[in-house]
Amino acid sequence: MEVKRICQWCGKPFIAQKTTTCYCSPQCSKRGYKHRIKERKMELRHIQEMQELRSNLEKQEYFTFSQAARLMGVSRQYIYKLVKEDKLRASRISGRMALVRR
Ligand SMILES: [Zn+2]
Repeated sequence: MEVKRICQWCGKPFIAQKTTTCYCSPQCSKRGYKHRIKERKMELRHIQEMQELRSNLEKQEYFTFSQAARLMGVSRQYIYKLVKEDKLRASRISGRMALVRR
């Protein structure tokens, strides 16, 4: 069985012998595989970081604008905007602006 496919690594069209083939050559397969592993690792690390951040923040009474931004997946500017619009409560704690849990 021959199937026309696009190489997932280099983007070139090729004829695949099996429907499961995603790459035009062993080289592309190797590179693509390594890349996928790397991406997966990065994804896992990101998830772990977010979980750590979250569990840290659970214990905190206050948190900084950058922590809040990371947690909410928005920019710090956006946090400032929310504070300005009184959608978030912020106080000056030990010289730094921090967000207060409601
Ligand atoms: Zn290729």
